[in-house]
Amino acid sequence: MTITQTIPAAFLVDPQSLIEDGTMFIGGKWVPAASGETFEVLNPATQEVLGRVPRGGRADVDAAVAAATAAFAGWRETHPSVRGRLLNKWADLCDEHVRELERLENQEIGRPSFAPNPAATNIRYIAGLADKIQGTSLPTADLDQLALTLRDPFGAIAIIVPWNGPGWAAPKRIVGPLIAGNTVVLKPASEAPLTVLYLAKLAEEAGIPAGVINVVTGSGRDVGEPLVLHPDIKRVSFTGSTKTGTRIAELAASHQIPAILELGGKSANVVYADADLDLAIPHLVRGILDNSGQACVAGSRLLVERSIEQDVIERLKTAFAKVTVGPWYEEPTMGPVINEAQGETVLGYIKAGVEEGATLAYGGSRLTGGKYDLGCYIEPTIFTDVRAGMRIEQEEIFGPVLSVIAFDSEDEAVRIANGTRYGLNSAVFTQDVGKAVRFARRSEAGLVSVNTTMGMGAVGIPAGGFKSSGYGRIASSDSPLEWTQTKAVVFGKTA
Ligand code: NDP
Repeated sequence: MTITQTIPAAFLVDPQSLIEDGTMFIGGKWVPAASGETFEVLNPATQEVLGRVPRGGRADVDAAVAAATAAFAGWRETHPSVRGRLLNKWADLCDEHVRELERLENQEIGRPSFAPNPAATNIRYIAGLADKIQGTSLPTADLDQLALTLRDPFGAIAIIVPWNGPGWAAPKRIVGPLIAGNTVVLKPASEAPLTVLYLAKLAEEAGIPAGVINVVTGSGRDVGEPLVLHPDIKRVSFTGSTKTGTRIAELAASHQIPAILELGGKSANVVYADADLDLAIPHLVRGILDNSGQACVAGSRLLVERSIEQDVIERLKTAFAKVTVGPWYEEPTMGPVINEAQGETVLGYIKAGVEEGATLAYGGSRLTGGKYDLGCYIEPTIFTDVRAGMRIEQEEIFGPVLSVIAFDSEDEAVRIANGTRYGLNSAVFTQDVGKAVRFARRSEAGLVSVNTTMGMGAVGIPAGGFKSSGYGRIASSDSPLEWTQTKAVVFGKTA
């Protein structure tokens, strides 16, 4: 179907003006796949073809790992402060080209901009640690002996990222391994590889040496699996679904390397009766509707104290009625979901919620007609009367669907909040410091926010989850150490 649309130039960037069509980045060169095959990247809001990227396979993985392994010797010997300077230069270029980065991501995942692009800030935060990755001195039996530890990098690291925020996710995951002296081979998701390729282009312009960052495009099966299994890959950083993460961990274990896993979530936002609702409601709305709910940290469960349940539901309905849905260039609150398959998953969960006896209090349908027929747009949706244990309360939906659950006591709130297999993120809204502290201490989540959501405004959060949301932490000041191995060195007595 064709619908005539006029997209203001300010909202567009031509991907081909940024990255040569049909190429990926291996060993400092922009190359096609060994097979010569490509696949299309679509704009989910218009179905327009944004570009073609190489359909990589095992031969391309081999070439990228060989390039990363060859570059490792020079990169690990590069003075840490020089590594830091190069990464800071990369951050500067991300700032300079923030419009291009933002527009590329708007177009390839169909989302409107909803917050300042964090790429440069996240790179700088870790780049500043370049010359602070250090070992310790150890006690010795004699004073003329010396014992200490060194932190050695591993070598070539595999990094696999999902489609839902490539420009936000990739720099955060690359910079820790790099600053510690490792090199990386990155596999972006097939739905959204362009922003990642452009980030590699900016890294190249910054003067980061050839082979230090490599990007291989292609599917999880054809690129992701051979990459994780490659004998010269020394560590894996995976972000994506819990199902795929489990597979990655098995593959990594088959050649005795660990994987840092950042997986799914089913995050609870807890609202006590004493909360400032004028403050809380906008956070609750953003928590579930930013990126159309396609966020690992989405606050998809709202736990509300029973005495204010109806008030909160009415306020939420009023707030949802003001939400605009449309293509990114209209600057709406929410764009489409990434594709038809994701849309079917979300609509399937909405059907399941109704069948399980929850009340569909707002939305619940796919939007159709005009611009909506060009993408998969789903109304912002609220379920009330949700009980702990229902599928919509337990499983990650990855769409704009909020489940409201009432509770009667602090203990019950904590029990329900902690009552899923996931443990990525949580939030509590209250004016009682004691309640906030108790919740923060008892929450089984890698990130707890108090009177805000998703850790908004903080830099250097150690990102990662409890339970089936994964293990390992990235992006914090001690996370570069995850990308080093400790070596003890003991000097014998000199005389
Ligand atoms: P997937 O797990 O389907 O895919 C993630 C990445 O893994 C993609 O690059 C994909 O490639 C690749 N992949 C898929 N199968 C394999 C395989 N067998 N071997 C190696 N790589 C593979 O997740 P989605 O892309 O659907 O992303 C959504 C998920 O990511 C949600 O569960 C969300 O919660 C989670 N997520 C977690 C975050 C966190 O920090 N905890 C942050 C953001 C998202 P391809 O698609 O090209 O086949």
